[in-house]
Amino acid sequence: MSRSATCDVCWRHCAIPEGGAGFCRARTCQDGCVVAENYGRLTSVAIDPVEKKPLAEWHPGARVLSVGSYGCNMRCPFCQNHEISQAGAGGVPWREVLPQELVDLALECAERDPSVIGIAHTYNEPLVGWEYVQDCSILARRAGLANVLVSNGCVSAHVVDNLAPLIDAANIDLKCFSADGYRELGGSFEDVHHTIEVLGTSKTCHLEVTTLVVPGVSDSEAAMREGAVWLSGVDENIVLHVTRFFPRWHMAGAQPTPVETVMRLADVAREYLPHVHVGNC
Ligand code: SF4
Repeated sequence: MSRSATCDVCWRHCAIPEGGAGFCRARTCQDGCVVAENYGRLTSVAIDPVEKKPLAEWHPGARVLSVGSYGCNMRCPFCQNHEISQAGAGGVPWREVLPQELVDLALECAERDPSVIGIAHTYNEPLVGWEYVQDCSILARRAGLANVLVSNGCVSAHVVDNLAPLIDAANIDLKCFSADGYRELGGSFEDVHHTIEVLGTSKTCHLEVTTLVVPGVSDSEAAMREGAVWLSGVDENIVLHVTRFFPRWHMAGAQPTPVETVMRLADVAREYLPHVHVGNC
């Protein structure tokens, strides 16, 4: 009988056959167990200003060693990083950097440039390989480095609950404002709500939220109002980024979001939230 195992990292609960990969292409089944095959496999490494994550109200002017692997559990047709987020192990070049090596690299960067204060897990969806985020974050914290997470937040509660105490700052996407909208993008509205609630009420994590305003997906004034009201209930001082979409991947033929739409939606959000930033305008 051929073996398979069920992954509990996100709502998809993929039943992965032995030697096969889950929907995210990052997790596989080996010897009857689900493993993060992308563990330590970095496709992208760069030093970025925290403002690029984006984090607008956390250590302004600081920089972080930003790393990403491959894989994602969503399929947003407008993905800005589809070359790595939608790839598997064979689809994109990677090199192995184990947690201690990554922390040592960050410490070297910080020695050369004191504005580097930590490590950001970003670019693809970091939480489909959350064990790497966890292991790096434990070592980074011991070394006095900060831990930053940039994620779609659509993972099971146990993943976020385990990681939250290790994360110093996070930016979580709120891609749209309804369960139906999330279903179309391949995510879970319920799970992103849980993630935002856990990180937004954490005493040790600074949370910012980003909504990319995509025409026909997330450009409704009424929906933005509903989203802003909900966010203010989580934390009245939560920081929200309302950002402009530029055509990418399956939406390469679309028009960029009109600047006035982004500005109008940001104004709607400001009726309920005092810290709203616009981006890409
Ligand atoms: S994390 Fe990946 S393998 Fe696990 S359930 Fe989600 S999509 Fe499937």
